[in-house]
Amino acid sequence: MYIVFEGIDGAGKSTQIQMLKEWLEANGFRVDTLVEPTDSEVGKLIRKILQRPDATSERLLKSLALLFAADRMLIMDRLEDESKIIISDRSFISSLAYQKPVDWVEVINRYAKKPDLIILLDLDVIKSVARTSGKDTFEDEEFLTGVRQNYLKLAEEYTCEVIDANNGINKVSSDIKKAVAPYLGICPDCIL
Ligand code: ADP
Ligand code: MG
Repeated sequence: MYIVFEGIDGAGKSTQIQMLKEWLEANGFRVDTLVEPTDSEVGKLIRKILQRPDATSERLLKSLALLFAADRMLIMDRLEDESKIIISDRSFISSLAYQKPVDWVEVINRYAKKPDLIILLDLDVIKSVARTSGKDTFEDEEFLTGVRQNYLKLAEEYTCEVIDANNGINKVSSDIKKAVAPYLGICPDCIL
């Protein structure tokens, strides 16, 4: 099973992926996690480019979109390992939410593996800014508002589980477990 976490920075992806992993392992499942951009050569190049001061120029953004799509192609094998649950921090859905033009982004990601379950952690933009303050990010409130709206539209198109990420960590975690349990035959009453 290939589970994907989506949401703007600060939504709690890293925190919740770790908690879900531990819970699934306690329930006897083998779990592998990955983060996009990945640790592939292309992923490393993406991280390097993202640090450039001109990482907002249109040409560079288009190149980045291609690199993200290439990075995804490189990890396909890992996603097809059926002996494990793969939990990924971001997927092609992130490209659709952040990059443009969207029709072109769709085309270049046409062969990206479709997740079995997409969990969208939906967070207020103001909270995102507060939770990520001090970290070097070039995403302002206006940009993040657009991304959040894109995500909510994508959630309908790709049937995502939308979780209210404004709640406390434990409440968010139990909402996620409730969303995941039916896919794995875990009894809903066993979830704390
Ligand atoms: P992401 O990976 O989506 O950027 P993180 O899991 O790194 O988000 O969380 C960003 C910050 O917000 C961290 O400092 C984390 O401890 C905190 N955080 C995560 N979830 C919550 C929550 N539900 N309520 C309050 N703070 C949270
Ligand atoms: Mg993170």
